[in-house]
Amino acid sequence: MFRIPCPHCGLRNVSEFRHVGEARTRPDPHTATPEQWRAYLYEQRNVAGWSVESWYHGSGCRQYIGVERHTVTNETRPIARAPESGHAAAGSASPDAGAPDADSAS
Ligand SMILES: [Zn+2]
Repeated sequence: MFRIPCPHCGLRNVSEFRHVGEARTRPDPHTATPEQWRAYLYEQRNVAGWSVESWYHGSGCRQYIGVERHTVTNETRPIARAPESGHAAAGSASPDAGAPDADSAS
């Protein structure tokens, strides 16, 4: 067990969260090739180290949050900006996963 720093609720037990996935930049759905879209949907970096991830705080504030987690030690630390993993930024519960997001480049 480890704890995750929720920007809305504070430091909470991981059992209150659902792991959404590794944060990745979504390709433009209007210009992406099928290969780029498949890579976005199915390929993970699976690093042994620090990884920026999205988590859903279902037993708390019901927000998608961004967390930086060390995948070996499960040490966590908050990130300044929510990751772009197809879910809303921290502080927003907009269920627009899968919708085109024109401003997601960074
Ligand atoms: Zn929360």
